[in-house]
Amino acid sequence: MEGTSREIRLVARPVGFPGEDLFEIAETAIPDPGEGQLLVRNAYFSVDPYMRPRMNDVRSYVAPFTLGEAMTGGAVGRVAVSRNPAFEAGEWVLHPLGWREWALSDGSGMRRIDAGAAPVSTALGVLGMPGFTAYYGLFELGGPKEGETVFVSGAAGAVGSAAGQMAKIAGCRVIGSAGSDDKVAWLRELGFDHAFNYRERRARDGLAEAAPEGIDIYFDNVGGEHLEAAIGKMRTNGRVVMCGSISRYNDAEPAPGPSNLFMVVTKRLRLQGYIISDHFDRFGSFYEQAQEWVRDGRLRYRETVIEGIENAPGAFLGLLRGENIGKMLVKVGPSE
Ligand code: NDP
Repeated sequence: MEGTSREIRLVARPVGFPGEDLFEIAETAIPDPGEGQLLVRNAYFSVDPYMRPRMNDVRSYVAPFTLGEAMTGGAVGRVAVSRNPAFEAGEWVLHPLGWREWALSDGSGMRRIDAGAAPVSTALGVLGMPGFTAYYGLFELGGPKEGETVFVSGAAGAVGSAAGQMAKIAGCRVIGSAGSDDKVAWLRELGFDHAFNYRERRARDGLAEAAPEGIDIYFDNVGGEHLEAAIGKMRTNGRVVMCGSISRYNDAEPAPGPSNLFMVVTKRLRLQGYIISDHFDRFGSFYEQAQEWVRDGRLRYRETVIEGIENAPGAFLGLLRGENIGKMLVKVGPSE
């Protein structure tokens, strides 16, 4: 195919909060698919918090990003040319090839999406990995029971907004914390029983007011001070779903953990972490259920869409600063 494709490469590793100078935009010729390959025109790609730890040169559950190569990650696009029998030109797909306008693939890690069922962007948000993370963490690890109190941090983000609404669907009383008054207002619209802005009041004080009787489940997206405050407010036999620790991802030095971990013993708490990619065999049942909730208006979502691949580094840094409401996406091509 004639023309050029742009991609964003990581060219240096961050110390502390990253800057745009760590990224470079590069132009390549749009490749022609060989036998067994297909070419996808991306519409959206995702910027996600987990990408920040992956920028460090530390082996974790996924390998670090390679310097000089395009950032990988979730993307949706339309097949332009296919020489792979599993996919046809015109189909919409989700794939892991990330921050680029065109993607050449052999089909590995690629999944067809139903563009008729919901906007294709939702495959990266409420009906994709973040929604599934909320669902699995809340229902499998949190085990919510009707009438229990659930606290969600990072509650106006992609995972948090879904987790809080799912806890409402389960019949729980739900408290959310987020970093701006606009976000707090949105949480109330979504049906959260109580929401507070943690930049105006400490998590400990917000929780003392919202949950004088304590909390049964803490869905932790944030770590740090929120985790300590939540442990202090957990009821006996409470469950902490350890989903993420975004308040720590930019630390240049490791910070001390919660000072009250002894309460895990005295309150018989369960704190459990998980990595959602271990559980994709369960994705189908989540998708069926979540699609129904989205259709009937019980699971609502928002997206913050930044246009243009050249703005992807800014979108990613904006996510780390809390500039998104709901799922943060970068739009790089036609989505119809
Ligand atoms: P979000 O859409 O929630 O975006 C990140 C949000 O984090 C920002 O909008 C910001 O909101 C908040 N934030 C940033 N810095 C801080 C801070 N210092 N203290 C408190 N909040 C902060 O992202 P996702 O929904 O994609 O991810 C949410 C969490 O879930 C992350 O920790 C992520 O790593 C984790 N995750 C874990 C997975 C797993 O498999 N375990 C899979 C997917 C995500 P605000 O304005 O409220 O500060």
